[in-house]
Amino acid sequence: MIEHSVKVSSGQLAYWFIVSQGRLFLTTDGTVPFAELAALPLQLADAMICKLGEYQLQPCYLVVYDDRPANEADWHSARALLEQGEALFQLAARATQVALFLQTHRFCGQCGSAMRLVNWELATLCHRCGHRCYPRIAPCVLVAVVKDEQILLARSTRHKAGFFSVLAGFVESAETLEQAAVREVKEEVGVDITNLHYVGSQPWPFPHSLMTGFLADYAGGEIQCQPEEIAEAYWCPLDQLPETPGLQTLSGQLIALAQAKRLAKN
Ligand SMILES: [Zn+2]
Repeated sequence: MIEHSVKVSSGQLAYWFIVSQGRLFLTTDGTVPFAELAALPLQLADAMICKLGEYQLQPCYLVVYDDRPANEADWHSARALLEQGEALFQLAARATQVALFLQTHRFCGQCGSAMRLVNWELATLCHRCGHRCYPRIAPCVLVAVVKDEQILLARSTRHKAGFFSVLAGFVESAETLEQAAVREVKEEVGVDITNLHYVGSQPWPFPHSLMTGFLADYAGGEIQCQPEEIAEAYWCPLDQLPETPGLQTLSGQLIALAQAKRLAKN
């Protein structure tokens, strides 16, 4: 649980996840600052501070920083921490998502009054109409579809040429993860799937997704791309992969798992 509006004692060494407009402040060597509050190179007297958790037995704090100062080079996407291990990335993901929640829930969506933070859980509450909000988490399915020794790879219309990955899509209201996986694959490339197996999940703070990963077998249909979403899709031989996401990402792990299964069969 996240404690908010905490008082940090002077001299307390901690990791500081300072977030402004969705971006994280990192030191010149690309790491999360570890220092006393007073030693940070930003004026943080009025900023909201929340306790995020611990990293390597040291406390971690989120600082919601409203103004972004001139030096844009100090502010990074949480993606920059993917390479620095799962624990640090997870803290960065939580920091950016909580900061976004606090920034976007200042007023009640139902009656327009000012919202207040609840003091025992991470939620905002409208004292006029009782409307309560929690941080948004958008579940998303990633599906690696395998047919013989090939995997279905697609390039989204939002990605640069040459960058292929497994299929992905958001879960809709009142849908199970499995239904979303079947629907997304059908909608995006016109293919039917079977033998759906859950593999794992990963928080993805861009801005507040929770990725869930599945392996599936091809069941039928010809590839037909939905033009708004998919620029290209094809059956790629598992031993001839193009540039695909790294192993720090769940997509990369699904592709590696499909490859390992193929090797185990042969
Ligand atoms: Zn209200």
